[in-house]
Amino acid sequence: MKPAPFRHYAPTTVDEAVALLARLAPQDGRVLAGGQSLVPTMAFRLARPAHLIDINGIATLSRLAVADGKLAIGACVRHAAFQRAPAEGPLGALLAKVVRHIAHYPIRTRGTFCGSIANADPASEWCTVAVALGAEMVAQSARGTRVIAAKDFFAGIMTTALAEDELLTEVRLPLLPADTRTGFYEFSRRAGDFAIAMALATYRLEGGKIVDPRVAVGGAEPHARRIAEAEQALAGKAPGAEAFTAAAARAEAAVDPMEDINNSAQYRRELVRAVVRRALEQAAA
Ligand SMILES: Cc1cc2nc3c(=O)[nH]c(=O)nc-3n(C[C@H](O)[C@H](O)[C@H](O)COP(=O)(O)OP(=O)(O)OC[C@H]3O[C@@H](n4cnc5c(N)ncnc54)[C@H](O)[C@@H]3O)c2cc1C
Repeated sequence: MKPAPFRHYAPTTVDEAVALLARLAPQDGRVLAGGQSLVPTMAFRLARPAHLIDINGIATLSRLAVADGKLAIGACVRHAAFQRAPAEGPLGALLAKVVRHIAHYPIRTRGTFCGSIANADPASEWCTVAVALGAEMVAQSARGTRVIAAKDFFAGIMTTALAEDELLTEVRLPLLPADTRTGFYEFSRRAGDFAIAMALATYRLEGGKIVDPRVAVGGAEPHARRIAEAEQALAGKAPGAEAFTAAAARAEAAVDPMEDINNSAQYRRELVRAVVRRALEQAAA
């Protein structure tokens, strides 16, 4: 099937793009970034936007740089940019580890980090990274610019705090202290498929005990989130089977998993226990 007719706009500045959005979003205007989620849904006519504001010609949105202790990721930075660590230290290494789980290479050369965040698929790896690490989302419109914390950004399945006339211009991830340990584990039936469940775990050690633990789960619930119960089970404990088993069990009990035609809620719940435990084991290795 071919997409329904639409008008294509090619702004070259952010100001031009947000002015177009202000005018066209109320008439079913949408941002086009990598097109790897939007275009397939248009081809199936599940989405029929009347106007596409294509941001790929805005050079300033391709910025990927470290500034003020954060990695700033512009709206046109592709997934493939993370295949090599984009920053020194544990954050860069973590992103390079995670990106390999996103789709297939051709999709990674077009799809964007910020597009994944704006699209808010429950099984998006970047959304899980964003909530785990406390990302900041920079949203710009003709009305001004605001910064939204990751914990306030994701509202449900493909639903975010972005208003229809806002462009997500940048996502900022805080750099991780050099001694941060990280683990990421996801389960999907075939390589490149969306995950059925995934977990990201980070912590540091002080005197042999876990400090600043973070455990986030994605793919299981309508949006990725940190699991405070699992983090509490880790804080102050020595890393190892006892603490990791306890944290995984707390995560399993805490989630309220989605059901679909292939995966029952109970299956996903048990999977959450497995992926949390494996992410923690990877962090300790
Ligand atoms: C076969 C296949 C497998 C895939 N597997 C995975 C996977 O395993 N994990 C995963 O995370 N993703 C996966 N994807 C999706 C892919 O990662 C997309 O690239 C990504 O979800 C959306 O990014 P995009 O740049 O392509 O956005 P687009 O498709 O251009 O846009 C998606 C939506 O976000 C909006 N949007 C995009 N950018 C902005 C912005 N800057 N500001 C405001 N709104 C914006 C658009 O208006 C649209 O509604 C897969 C896609 C395919 C086709």
